Amino acid sequence: MAVVFVALGSNLDNPKEHIERAIAELRADRRLHFIAASNLYSSKAVGPGHQPDYCNAVVNLSTELKPESLLDLLQAVENQHRRVRVQRWGARTLDLDLLLFEHITLHSKRLCIPHPRMHERAFVLIPLADITGVDFYIGDKSVNQLLEKCVDRGTVQRLAV
Ligand code: ATP
Ligand code: CA
Ligand code: CA
Repeated sequence: MAVVFVALGSNLDNPKEHIERAIAELRADRRLHFIAASNLYSSKAVGPGHQPDYCNAVVNLSTELKPESLLDLLQAVENQHRRVRVQRWGARTLDLDLLLFEHITLHSKRLCIPHPRMHERAFVLIPLADITGVDFYIGDKSVNQLLEKCVDRGTVQRLAV
C-alpha cells in the first residue's frame, strides 16, 4: 500500500463546492483509502490574466494503484467536474495534482513525482502541513523552510467551515 498526497484546486463555478465534492468522491472510491484531509483555503491565482481566487486543499490517501493508474483516476475525477483545458495555468473547475507517492522519484512523460512545483507553492504547502506538520521533510527541506521562500504565502487564507 502506497501513502500519497494529492493537492486539490478550483477557481471556477463555486470553487469551494468543487473541492468539497472532489474530496467526497475520492473518499468514496474503493481503490483509495482515505487517511486525512486538510482545511480548505483560499489563495490568489498565479496563472495568466486576471482569474478568480482559488480554493485549495490537500488529501492524504493510501492505495494499491501504481502512480500512472492513480493519475488516470485523478484525471477522470477532473473530467467529471467538466474540467476544460484551454490555456496552461488557466482557470479551472478542478485540478488534482499528485504531490508525493511514498518516497519515489519519477520523471516520465506524463508524471513527475514529487510534483515539480510543489516546493514553491504556499497554497500547496500550507494545507499539506495541516496533515503532516511543518517539520515534514520533502527532499532535504522541511515544509517550514520551503514556506519561508514562498512569495504567495500572504495570499493563502483558511476558509471558515
Ligand atoms: P502545474 O503542474 O504547474 O500545477 P497544472 O496543474 O495546471 O500545472 P495540468 O494542465 O493540470 O497542469 O497538467 C498538465 C500535465 O501534467 C498532466 O496532463 C499530467 O500528465 C502532467 N503531470 C506531471 N506530473 C504530474 C503530477 N505529479 N500530478 C498531476 N499531473 C502531472
Ligand atoms: Ca496544478
Ligand atoms: Ca494538474
